[in-house]
Amino acid sequence: MLEVENLEVNYGHVKAVKKISFSVNKGEIVTILGSNGAGKTSTLFGILNIVKSKGKVIFEGEDVSNKSTVYMVKKGIVLCPENRRIFSSLTVEENLKMGTYLRGDYSKNSKYVYDLFPVLKERKKQKAGSLSGGEQQMLALGRALMASPKLLMLDEPSLGLAPIIIDEIYSVLKTLKESNIPILLVEQNAIKSLKISDRAYILENGNVAHQGVSKEMLNDERLKKSYLGK
Ligand code: ATP
Repeated sequence: MLEVENLEVNYGHVKAVKKISFSVNKGEIVTILGSNGAGKTSTLFGILNIVKSKGKVIFEGEDVSNKSTVYMVKKGIVLCPENRRIFSSLTVEENLKMGTYLRGDYSKNSKYVYDLFPVLKERKKQKAGSLSGGEQQMLALGRALMASPKLLMLDEPSLGLAPIIIDEIYSVLKTLKESNIPILLVEQNAIKSLKISDRAYILENGNVAHQGVSKEMLNDERLKKSYLGK
């Protein structure tokens, strides 16, 4: 459903992503792992043309390489960004409405999101800035789901959260997978994300250093030592 070929992102002379290729198939969770500065966020931004990129991006058979970010979102490639980027001074409900700015049906999708995250329903009239970190992450994920993603891109959803909240977020990701929403998941949390994903790519200095089936990568002692923090 998503094919990325030779994607390149440069910031002036900084080569953040160096001609990487990868794919996400229908129904899959694909993880992109890598340490700080490996090029994970730039990869997502490059796909969506939030930053200037070179290379080929094919989505559902269509070459969308040079299309605008708005076009991509309207097509159904939806990003839940790193650090949540919620609108703090708006209420939970208003944040969710913002999610449907370019696509998605508010009344249908808000029911779905509130069922997934009952705490958001309880706090729907509350200012988003007053939520806990975990609730804000749920809101960011909920806002992305409001756009009825055909492909959901998640940038470090576990960043800075307590283990119990991370478990909650990951259990929702499992539910999304069961509802056949493909996910491109960017993480530093290697073990957790490999456990949930089908395949993974490890980025190192803007290159794909390793790729494979997540389960096999989890059991690869050499990889564990060099990349997975074990
Ligand atoms: P993190 O986990 O810290 O978000 P990352 O793997 O997502 O890291 P990127 O944010 O994509 O990595 O950064 C890749 C490289 O590009 C790094 O060397 C970073 O310093 C550089 N970089 C990122 N954004 C910019 C920018 N706007 N201008 C210049 N260099 C940038």
